[in-house]
Amino acid sequence: QIPVICVDGPTASGKGTLAALTAHRLGYHYLDSGALYRLSAFAALRAGLSLDDGEAVARIARSLPVRFKGDRIFLATEEAEEDVSETIRTEIAGMAASRVSAHPQVRNALLDLQRSFRQLPGLVADGRDMGTVVFPDAALKIYLTASALHRAERRHKQLISKGNTITIAAIQQALEARDQRDMSRKAAPLKPAEDAKLLDNSDLTIEESLDQVIDWWQGTRPF
Ligand code: C5P
Repeated sequence: QIPVICVDGPTASGKGTLAALTAHRLGYHYLDSGALYRLSAFAALRAGLSLDDGEAVARIARSLPVRFKGDRIFLATEEAEEDVSETIRTEIAGMAASRVSAHPQVRNALLDLQRSFRQLPGLVADGRDMGTVVFPDAALKIYLTASALHRAERRHKQLISKGNTITIAAIQQALEARDQRDMSRKAAPLKPAEDAKLLDNSDLTIEESLDQVIDWWQGTRPF
């Protein structure tokens, strides 16, 4: 079996950074599954669809004209390819992703695409249901959390550095609202897999979190 490490957890817990660094350290592929939900919502809105129409959004999700190149994400239109890396990163795009991700048809439509990232020498996948649904046989599953305040403060720092003005309280409210949606939906609700290792990174540096993951990973290996 091609090895997989899953990193699931709530919004802005640092999953993306940790998963990408782990992939880099091990020389593995990296899957940002949230980007696929963000892209599906974006493509659906661009096609003039309602985000409440699960069937229609699923049709788009099933044949998403997406291309990953380094850390850039491109979506093809009829005329050209558009770099949507920044557009899909906003909190509005995150909430749109959360809305489409509640449709079971959309989740199903993205399964094959997500699993196609499982290639040698291995994969690190981040999201909400990597360990519970997409890669249930993964050798290592991590559920990454941090307090809502820590998560809001980190997101605030990122946004401020990009010239945005928004308060920490407003960010905290937005991310808690999105987590609430993700945890209370029927289709693949956000929750730790039974065999997940919990990692609270509120008081850890990114290097400390990475070391913990690598330690756990080495512990799963027979050599
Ligand atoms: O991780 P990210 O914030 O990019 O995810 C955006 C939204 O996509 C999440 O709030 C969640 O609703 C949805 N998602 C999901 N399952 C995943 C990844 C993301 O439902 N594996």
